[in-house]
Amino acid sequence: MVPIRSCIACRSRESSQELLHLVVVEGRVVPDPNRTLNGRGAWLHSKCFELAVQRRSFQRAFKSGEDLQYQDLEVFLKSSFMKNKEQK
Ligand SMILES: [Zn+2]
Repeated sequence: MVPIRSCIACRSRESSQELLHLVVVEGRVVPDPNRTLNGRGAWLHSKCFELAVQRRSFQRAFKSGEDLQYQDLEVFLKSSFMKNKEQK
């Protein structure tokens, strides 16, 4: 059975295969597509990144009072988006 997780931005429940796993490493939100990193995790639809930024979902999901850095995640999402386009 595939575990069900909630997207931190839109809050809908989804099979974890449809969501990207994120962890925070030293104040940075890092994509963890292979789910190998330790630490507090959260789940996000790739398409929900901008929504998560608008709603400050990262701070809430990771219970962080500080602003988190999510440039790594943004770069990751952009490059995987470009790859998908090239395949089509
Ligand atoms: Zn979502």
